[in-house]
Amino acid sequence: MVAEAALLLVRVSVLGIFSPTVVTIEAGGQHHALSIENGALKVDAATQQNFRIAGDPLVTVAVIDKGRPRITRKFRGTIEARVSNGAILLVDELPDEEYLPGTVALESLSDHPEAQKAQAVVARTFVQRGARHAREGFDLCDLTHCQTYRGADGETEKARAAVAATRGEVLSFDGKIAEVYFTASCGGATNDVADVWPDGARRPYLRSVPCEACRRADQKWETTIALADLARAIDQPNARGVIITDGGAGGVVRNVRIEGAATTMTGEALRMTIGRALGWSRLRSDRFTVEKRGNDLHFRGSGAGHGVGLCETGAADLAKRGASYREILSRYFPGTTIDARRTGR
Ligand SMILES: [Zn+2]
Ligand SMILES: [Zn+2]
Repeated sequence: MVAEAALLLVRVSVLGIFSPTVVTIEAGGQHHALSIENGALKVDAATQQNFRIAGDPLVTVAVIDKGRPRITRKFRGTIEARVSNGAILLVDELPDEEYLPGTVALESLSDHPEAQKAQAVVARTFVQRGARHAREGFDLCDLTHCQTYRGADGETEKARAAVAATRGEVLSFDGKIAEVYFTASCGGATNDVADVWPDGARRPYLRSVPCEACRRADQKWETTIALADLARAIDQPNARGVIITDGGAGGVVRNVRIEGAATTMTGEALRMTIGRALGWSRLRSDRFTVEKRGNDLHFRGSGAGHGVGLCETGAADLAKRGASYREILSRYFPGTTIDARRTGR
């Protein structure tokens, strides 16, 4: 067993999506009301720079809206609060092994033990790889941008078991912590990371691999987007169409040219931009074709998400067919090994 001193502490921003300005925090019989007064944090009757309370073992946080709790959640570890951008920034600080059960069940499509163990190793590797939000004063957010996390409320018995069974295990390649991604369904084969994010480094273990479960399942989608909506979404009033200029393995769109706007962008950037402006159910993946029909663009594609790394649909299927989590991981991250995680980043 790894000594407690060797655990990696992770700092997760929680409940930020609600931009809370009034919260109540309870732990170990203590009850505090936090609000913002003249831009400063007010705890009970006094203003103070920041606030910190350790769980006993849990901290209960309620976001108050118009005098009523809008959402209440329980967290392990220590909750810190300070004012940031006009809202109360809440950060949950806890050892990675205690954080992981609060994300694994939420991000895994399957509750099969081997699929959840694979998710646990990927989630731990993601944490080990480092802080995406260092400039904001924390490591991870609690949204899909990093990994969905709901504290102790997101945990399940199975997720806790999957984390315990893989304790300390991370994916490495060539002696370095691997760069990991996961995706809901790949549409028949995962995407090479270099096709989706061409500016990043090429990673031999993030190449396109076939995915039988997604090939068997019908993951086709289509959507029609009015040219006017596209123009608004990409902020190019003269946009008259989308032309795929460059594709990668398995039909992934690497680059597109926007007709009438002399602009190019990656397929992934187009998906993200349309997702933010028009909703995520429109351009669902980076594998698509596009056809102009009058004043509309008709997209047809398959899969969901960026398609890089561990395919959740494929992992669920492989687990059901008897694959171990190690087999699942070596399928989607070929050439990686499972190593003991380090205590620093
Ligand atoms: Zn994030
Ligand atoms: Zn798949």
